[in-house]
Amino acid sequence: MDGFESNEKSFLADRMVGRLGRWLRMMGVDCASAEGLLAPEVLDKALAERRVLVTRDTGLMKRRTRVERFFIRSNFVQEQVLEFLGAYPIDPLERAFTRCVECNEPLERVEKESLSDEVPVYVRRTQDVFSRCPACKRVYWAATHRRRMETRLRSLGQKTLEKREGTNADDLV
Ligand SMILES: [Zn+2]
Repeated sequence: MDGFESNEKSFLADRMVGRLGRWLRMMGVDCASAEGLLAPEVLDKALAERRVLVTRDTGLMKRRTRVERFFIRSNFVQEQVLEFLGAYPIDPLERAFTRCVECNEPLERVEKESLSDEVPVYVRRTQDVFSRCPACKRVYWAATHRRRMETRLRSLGQKTLEKREGTNADDLV
């Protein structure tokens, strides 16, 4: 993993691709949200934080700016994820669920014993691995929801790999 992080790009998803942004954060991609920002502010943020702007906004694509932009064609979030992975190939499962889906903050591992009533009793009884977002304090755990998302991510990852020649899909899982 060392060195992998350093040359990795970070992204800014505009509000037209807000759901894609959530998917990217779920895959552990550093992707901030531009929700609530006006167009000039979106570009300023991308420039200041050196993020690639992921957008479906043709107006933003046409603007004269030094901001690196990636245009998403599809209206459908699953296709958008595939478009993204086609341009920025990453293993969608390797760092899945390491960032807060809401805030984009890297999650911190939290000891089960330190959790109180923020997690339902049955979850504490059945789960062992918990992490917390340092910003919004939301607690994450490996629940059914997470497994379902992993299955979807895995199938997306395999579709991406099938498109690339000479890649063994087994490498992913
Ligand atoms: Zn959060």
